Amino acid sequence: MSNFRTLDDLGTVIGDVTGKVALVRVDLNLPMDGGSVTDTTRVQASAPTILELADAGAKVLLLAHFGRPRGERNSTMSVSMTLDAVEDVLGREVMFIPEVQGPVVEQSIGILRNGDIGLLENTRFWPGEEANDEEFARGIAANGDFYVNDAFSAAHRAHASTEGIAKLLPSFAGRAMEKELTALEAALDKPEPPVAAVVGGAKVSSKLAVLENLVGKVQHLIIGGGMANTFLAARGVDVGKSLCEHDLTDTANAIMDKADHAGCTVHLPYDVVVAKDFAANPPSVRTCNVHEVAADEMILDVGPQAVEALGDVLKTCKTLVWNGPMGAFETEPFDEATVALAKTAAALSKADSLISVAGGGDTVAALNHAGVAGDFSYISTAGGAFLEWMEGRELPGVAALKA
Ligand code: ADP
Ligand code: MG
Repeated sequence: MSNFRTLDDLGTVIGDVTGKVALVRVDLNLPMDGGSVTDTTRVQASAPTILELADAGAKVLLLAHFGRPRGERNSTMSVSMTLDAVEDVLGREVMFIPEVQGPVVEQSIGILRNGDIGLLENTRFWPGEEANDEEFARGIAANGDFYVNDAFSAAHRAHASTEGIAKLLPSFAGRAMEKELTALEAALDKPEPPVAAVVGGAKVSSKLAVLENLVGKVQHLIIGGGMANTFLAARGVDVGKSLCEHDLTDTANAIMDKADHAGCTVHLPYDVVVAKDFAANPPSVRTCNVHEVAADEMILDVGPQAVEALGDVLKTCKTLVWNGPMGAFETEPFDEATVALAKTAAALSKADSLISVAGGGDTVAALNHAGVAGDFSYISTAGGAFLEWMEGRELPGVAALKA
């Protein structure tokens, strides 16, 4: 099906992995509060890969970055701060190794028994990591027999531990990477049509490349959030004091023209929720037609009629890709459109009539708020990498895994 190697290919390429050293790139850039980890989702995502390799008898060395130490050792950004969380999630002891290459790593490998797990220091303590320096990558690769990348979230960076090393060792996608790539492929690379894309969020400027890529690939482009205001303004609607990038109205028109030519229907809201001040449940909140927004009002959510029509569009579709909330969902009642559309998408996915893939920091938060994240076919927590994939770019860390 796919053109990247997975752990299923280990037997053919490597043979028995007992006693072999697996260098496994994972995402341990965990949220912290006062020195302790507050969320272990990323460790849980890679646990199946780590345990599968360990249980097969490999010596597993985890590679990860943490924060932005800019090529210098910095004790406040040591990966060792995640050690307890990693051990908890894996239910195994993990040996911390304060280097990524050289004799200390070599000696540690000598101490590890088959099936043991080691955690290497923050790859970004060395300038060679972000520079993707070949010699640095060689130094890491020297201690491994093969490389497994399980960190899709870091795959948009061509760094030594995500790209350079993959060129030096037999390389495989880990289980989390495999799941992510398979889901994304089904959503946009080879989707079952008709395909709908929901693009929302604050600004057009941050998602121009996403919009331009999507209009050539999907049949329905649903634009919500603050970015819809720029498109409405481009169509001559007076958006009052809404968040709007007036300097991008020509760009918005060009995107709508491109969509027209490609046979992609662009859906903009025709009713909206407005208020004079941006606060929770402000007295001035009301719903109106987009042509009735007053000069002192701002559009903060898509209106209920538009949401119902958009739900009907989703019912005709087989595939959905979603990035960006439909309104300022953090503040009530401007979460209603996002919640309602998310519930429709979730119900269709649960009934197996829609493949739904969503991603983006605020999008994941919004879908959790709607209580439906578990019903989507796939939720990507990868942030930057997810957006670059939505832009249609090839991610260097993924390209390097291609067989
Ligand atoms: P993601 O992180 O999922 O990629 P974005 O960061 O692009 O999403 O956008 C999310 C932000 O957009 C949210 O903070 C939300 O409040 C804001 N937003 C959505 N609609 C509006 C609107 N109509 N006016 C102002 N801000 C909005
Ligand atoms: Mg965001």
